[in-house]
Amino acid sequence: MLVGCLTATLSVAASPQTKDSQPDVFLVTIDTLRADHVHCYGYERIQTPALDGLAKDGIRFAQAFTPSPITNTSHVSILTGLLPSSHGVVDFAVPLSPVHSSWAELLHQHGYHSAAFIGAVILDSKILAPGLDRGFDFYDNFPEHSKAKARWGRIERRGMDVVQRAEAWLSAHPQRPHFVWVHLYDPHDPYEPPAPYSQIYKDHLYDGEIAYADSALANFISYLKKSRWYENSLIVVVGDHGEGLGEHHEDTHGIFLYDSTTHVPLILKTPVRVTDVKLKVVEAQVRTTDILPTVLDLTRIPAPAKLDGESLTLYFTGTNADDSERTVFGETDYPLRFGWAPLRSVRMQGLKFIEAPRPELYDVLQDAAEVKNQYEPWNAQVQKFRAMLAQIRAKQPSPGNSRGSIGQGTIDELKALGYLGTADAGSATNVPEPSLLPDPKDKIEEQNLLHLAMIASEDGRADAAREFLRKVLQLDPKSPTALRQLGDLELQAGEYAESAQHLKAALEVHPDDATAAFHEGQALERTHDLAGARDVLESSLKLMPGQIDARLLLGQVYLALKNVKAAEDQFDAALLLQPSIEAQLVIAKARITAENFNEAAQQLVALSKSQPGNAKVFELLAEAYSGLGKKVEAQRAAARATLLRARK
Ligand SMILES: [Zn+2]
Repeated sequence: MLVGCLTATLSVAASPQTKDSQPDVFLVTIDTLRADHVHCYGYERIQTPALDGLAKDGIRFAQAFTPSPITNTSHVSILTGLLPSSHGVVDFAVPLSPVHSSWAELLHQHGYHSAAFIGAVILDSKILAPGLDRGFDFYDNFPEHSKAKARWGRIERRGMDVVQRAEAWLSAHPQRPHFVWVHLYDPHDPYEPPAPYSQIYKDHLYDGEIAYADSALANFISYLKKSRWYENSLIVVVGDHGEGLGEHHEDTHGIFLYDSTTHVPLILKTPVRVTDVKLKVVEAQVRTTDILPTVLDLTRIPAPAKLDGESLTLYFTGTNADDSERTVFGETDYPLRFGWAPLRSVRMQGLKFIEAPRPELYDVLQDAAEVKNQYEPWNAQVQKFRAMLAQIRAKQPSPGNSRGSIGQGTIDELKALGYLGTADAGSATNVPEPSLLPDPKDKIEEQNLLHLAMIASEDGRADAAREFLRKVLQLDPKSPTALRQLGDLELQAGEYAESAQHLKAALEVHPDDATAAFHEGQALERTHDLAGARDVLESSLKLMPGQIDARLLLGQVYLALKNVKAAEDQFDAALLLQPSIEAQLVIAKARITAENFNEAAQQLVALSKSQPGNAKVFELLAEAYSGLGKKVEAQRAAARATLLRARK
């Protein structure tokens, strides 16, 4: 409603509405960027000339808030103008429903050429952010099977890399108007800025990452100026969320809803044709859900019927700029990944209410650090805020059906980025009433340690990871996440007995964790507890029948237990799932190890016909013939294997 009437008040030095007269639109999201760590937001320990310059040319919103402290969810709110509970992308890998039109789709429908350049796999539309690529002509995902060891290129891209990819695309697609989204991931932990930022900011590396991201932004802005696209462009720069930096004991972000992770910088540079900008700094409280309605307003593109945000143009245009605040809602389901209560918040009229097992109320004007909890259940404001949250909840689609199904590969990528939780913890189907779950405030030290363990493990520092996980278990001996991680770590380290013990304990807490059961089976097989391995592998496959590696291992275990029939059943099932050469070779090898030479030889002879150039096939065939006492055939097969290897 408001959006419609705003368009009329906006003076646009405009020619008739044609594609050519439309401004280019550039969205730059800077990950993990606290407003109070940017120079033009009053922080003196950093240089951010690109952000400062944009603020000088545009409008700076001093009090902008994200509804979500975690990357995917907050980005989807920026791209749709909807609250998390409205768009439903409340966890990694949850697809954005086609019901919701995104920024790219809306502009694309009005003739915009669109492209997105992302800085981390967390926003890769193939795995962790399905649906975000809708409406983009080009979406710069990561390579599917990168063998690179380093993070760069495999799960993250440096800011300079991201902007150069965007610039190359723009140069190759000069036809206007453009909508380009650039995502700079750098300030996200671990904090490893390149030189010279690693030196200049060596005592506060988080700021070094921000300064580096700012230099990438500077590169992009100067490209736009050189291409003469800057003046007529609408540029939005916004943080997706902030960073705890130890406030409220939160090191990173995602669990809490304090201002440290929800107050973000928001800068908007309008096209020169918007001539009546009256205010350069907007002090009123606004939201990142207001960005899309503002962009639609400025480009005169009709807004979708349902948006949770509203255009911000009244704040900086016209003679009497608006100073009324917008009500900020906050939502985080990330604690659910660890089995802790999700949080909700309302920020309005100088107060912040956080709904939690132990609720909180802060006077954010007097107590900006949010440390003096004034919550009292009979407080009239609290009751009003609760009613507002209940209203949002009532409109929410039921959880469970909107959740993504997360595969093991995706889990590995999440871990590499420091996000974790057990494989099935994202499923909300068995979540008890929130109030019955632990308050994240009581668990934050565990979360910090789990995060550190994940990063250490990704960097190959197994001892450090082990130490962090043991500390978690001191705080909570039944932490399923720590038990599972420790079990996996010991499995990789070859400490099989210890691994099995941790995984068994993890399964006692989370009996539905099929992958934990598979891993326990691997550990038990290595300790020669064959019956134990058989039992957990059977139960793992009951939970998730499609695990080919678990089937192959179970077949091997049955062979070792001299149960040939059961083994063959597993092998048949594995080959039905995936009739690959690799699976065939595993089966042949298992048969040889179990001294089932006849079956092995038959299988390998058949395989040698379809794979006449595969040395491994003939190598195993030689072993099978040897076992059968067929010396001549064995020698012939071995010679063939040698020949094939030499040819390579
Ligand atoms: Zn983020």
